[in-house]
Amino acid sequence: TIGMLALDNRGNLSGACTTSGMAFKMHGRVGDSPIIGAGLYVDNEIGAATSTGVGEEVVRTVGSFLVVELMRQGYSPEDACKEAVQRIVKKKPAKAKEIQVGFLAMNKQGEYGAYALQQGFSFAVCNEEQQDLLIKGKSIY
Ligand code: ASP
Repeated sequence: TIGMLALDNRGNLSGACTTSGMAFKMHGRVGDSPIIGAGLYVDNEIGAATSTGVGEEVVRTVGSFLVVELMRQGYSPEDACKEAVQRIVKKKPAKAKEIQVGFLAMNKQGEYGAYALQQGFSFAVCNEEQQDLLIKGKSIY
């Protein structure tokens, strides 16, 4: 999945995501990307989040909505993403070691963060100070 989150110069948040789904997926499978709250969620009062990885686990945790709600409770974007991936670990500890799920989030103040199950999840940042800065996301494993 490619997920994008933006904050414009009027302070409005937006987001988008696109995916080809999982390799060898069942015909008719719907992943997390087209489900608002799972692969993408934007609340212009709080923040925005998007996900990548095994969509079934993101749908089960309503992951992007969860990340935004955690930011509403005061979590930083990175901590909210970390808590969301930890929910997957708690629900399915053995499976979580074998799959990838990553979340990316930004709050209304323009602070951003990400967290994934596995290493190898990176994201790019573009703002007035930095263009296309590539950041290596943190991970549980
Ligand atoms: N999240 C997508 C899906 O489960 C896969 C991806 O990361 O592209 O359909």
